Amino acid sequence: MNIKKHVTTIKVFALLFFLLVGYSSYVKYQGAKLEDENKTLKKQLDIANENIKEQKNELDELRSLLDSQKDVDYEIEVNETDSNVTVVAIHGGKIEKGTTELAYALASHNNYNYYSFQGLKSTDNFALHVPSDKFAETYALEMVSKSKRTLSIHGCDGAEEFTYIGGRDTELANRIKESLTKHGFTVKDTPKDLAGISPDNIVNRDIDERGVQIEISEGLRTEFLSTNKDSLNSYVLAISEAVNNM
Ligand SMILES: [Zn+2]
Repeated sequence: MNIKKHVTTIKVFALLFFLLVGYSSYVKYQGAKLEDENKTLKKQLDIANENIKEQKNELDELRSLLDSQKDVDYEIEVNETDSNVTVVAIHGGKIEKGTTELAYALASHNNYNYYSFQGLKSTDNFALHVPSDKFAETYALEMVSKSKRTLSIHGCDGAEEFTYIGGRDTELANRIKESLTKHGFTVKDTPKDLAGISPDNIVNRDIDERGVQIEISEGLRTEFLSTNKDSLNSYVLAISEAVNNM
């Protein structure tokens, strides 16, 4: 009997055994890795699908705007001055009623720059509502990009008379809030979705990349549009004081 040969055979078997164990754990490890990669890919696919859905919604919105005709369904009103303050109402006319009237009153009282995109349709003016962070009408962007202080006037729901103030220019926003309150207007805590803090929001696309977004309740806008202009005039004075005393 050749012991040496046996030992060699055992050594070979032992080596084979370890190689096999090693290989099988390598296969297991690769399997787990693939599973992880699959999970990551699935997540990425879900995100991509969400993005596609979002872009489709945006396209639908833009399409309804493209179908609209300038000067028939909407019009753009502009007055450029040498002021470094700009007031915009991008949901003006019949989109958010009363916002054009306030923006115009505020701008003309102070000789500020004025821009208003106005819905003129007899119904369904909301089809012309482009969200503030998507609003990229050339003239509006150009005016705002040259503006030092920018105010964006909007309308929100609410039968009571109140205002929400947002935007990235928190200093001016606070001054306006104080001034409005002093003049007897109610300023409520702004809900997150109306805070206007996105850098893409047109109000924050001025020189300093920060402006003030003013959301006015339907109740207060109805008051602005009534024959008695006391409320509108007092609101204009309150905001003017805050802006001009900066
Ligand atoms: Zn609006």
